[in-house]
Amino acid sequence: MYKGIGASAGIGIGKIVVIKEQELNYSKTTITDKEAEKKRLADAIDVFIEKTTALAESMKITAGEAESEILQGHIMMIQDPAIKEQIETKIDEESINAESAVEEACDFFAMIFSMAEDELTQQRASDLGDIKTRLIKILLGVEEVDIGAVPAETILVAEDLTPSMTASFVPENIEGVLTEIGGKTSHSAIICRSMEIPAVLSIPDITKIVKDGDVVVLDGTTGEMYLNPEEDVLAEFKAKRDAYLEAKAALAKFVGKPSQTADGHVVELVANIGGPDEAPGVLERDGEGVGLFRSEFLFMESDSIPSEESQFEAYKSVAETLEGKPVIIRTLDIGGDKALPYLGLPTEENPFLGFRAVRFCLKRQDDIYKPQLRALLRASAYGKVRIMVPLVTCVDELRAVKAIIEELKAELDAEGIAYDKNIEVGVMMETAAASLIADILAKEADFFSIGTNDLTGYTMAADRGNPDVAYLYSAYNPAVLRSIRNIIAAANKEGIMAGMCGEAASDPLMIPLLLAFGLNEFSVSATAILQARKTMSLWTMDECKALADEVMQLTTEAEVKALLEERARS
Ligand code: PEP
Ligand code: MG
Repeated sequence: MYKGIGASAGIGIGKIVVIKEQELNYSKTTITDKEAEKKRLADAIDVFIEKTTALAESMKITAGEAESEILQGHIMMIQDPAIKEQIETKIDEESINAESAVEEACDFFAMIFSMAEDELTQQRASDLGDIKTRLIKILLGVEEVDIGAVPAETILVAEDLTPSMTASFVPENIEGVLTEIGGKTSHSAIICRSMEIPAVLSIPDITKIVKDGDVVVLDGTTGEMYLNPEEDVLAEFKAKRDAYLEAKAALAKFVGKPSQTADGHVVELVANIGGPDEAPGVLERDGEGVGLFRSEFLFMESDSIPSEESQFEAYKSVAETLEGKPVIIRTLDIGGDKALPYLGLPTEENPFLGFRAVRFCLKRQDDIYKPQLRALLRASAYGKVRIMVPLVTCVDELRAVKAIIEELKAELDAEGIAYDKNIEVGVMMETAAASLIADILAKEADFFSIGTNDLTGYTMAADRGNPDVAYLYSAYNPAVLRSIRNIIAAANKEGIMAGMCGEAASDPLMIPLLLAFGLNEFSVSATAILQARKTMSLWTMDECKALADEVMQLTTEAEVKALLEERARS
């Protein structure tokens, strides 16, 4: 058995096709006619843009809008003045051939991106590798490998899957994917998930271990893979595949259905996103809106504070994509485990109890918070945008944010710029303090969204990254459950929306409890929408309440978990 990272769920059974990149034969040469070389480069870039545009179009059909945008991103990257000029400068100043200039410039920028701390910026390094290879192939006149022609029941094996490779996938023929590099958030993972192709990534040396025609079984959830398996393993995987496909088909029934309990109690089922590129996926998976747009990703993807204008474009694009469905955008939630190196913040002894989220934003109003809030207000003219404030611990923070918003509204009025005058401002309920003053906050907030990921950590005083205290980090703890119940009750009492955007909102064991407590909005990852809708449909409100009554009598996490597991429905 081999083990990698399970990056796209499902069971794959098929025959190996190894994608080996062709050797690109060229060396660094000195050229004399710089203008001719630059013309050769410009022509190659034109061909690159033309081919990539066509690939992006076909990808829209096979993988969806969001994935097609990765390739559109390649077009933008190759047109980026910094990268383009660097290649031209190399030809001009070093008199080297276009192939070498492309290689050196792309490697340089890839190195810079790969040093970033966040995975998304690191991902750009892999994009640049893809761009480099394809551009050099065009310069050399080398044809690309035709992945579209692989036979049915293929398991593709590659060092990495580049977006340009996946663009020519015929998903029906590909049973699974194995790679040597990549993780859950790499492009290959995102694309495989959107095409629903099981994938196991990061198996060391897999391109050397297998050969064309080998039989392989893989589990895209556990990350397990067997090469030329024995009969019993093969039979086991076939049974697992049937069960998986059956469960998936059963979920398809819930597309287009309301999100409601068996007795017709309707709630809102929305999605969490990290950026505009994920917005189309929400609609594709039948989400009813966005319950959490983590705006810090815009800040983490950039190497400086993103301007008001670029933020406005991003927020507006999500608002427009969602066509009037609610979009809750959380203001910058930085600090704790989310660092922004370019802000040059001092290292703290207790970053989770430190200068982060709204605390930080209120101190950096001029260069950070006001531009973000202005961008949010301006975007509210293009859809149903709501603003959410993270890590609130006292009502003063909410008041301070609302005061800034009022000031900015007046500014926009004076400038004649449109915005939603009734824009809602809500609170992310994720600290023990916020929970204890939920009644106070509910009088001044327009909505609540419970962030159980942090609420669990702050309530139990347990860092989820620390294995020694991981046993405490569970939302099934009576303390966390009481906190959640209290927050929802306070929201219900004031008649404001009680939402949840932490992971607990998609936990099938938790859903009946949350319904019983009176949660109105569930915000889950796009891929969890249909499963959550299904779970809701399996319970009546009376059954949920009876279960909650029992659960809330219990005294330990283990008892709660055991009872919820015993009563789980599927
Ligand atoms: C949470 O804390 O539950 C949450 C949704 O926010 P994040 O995971 O981004 O901290
Ligand atoms: Mg949080």
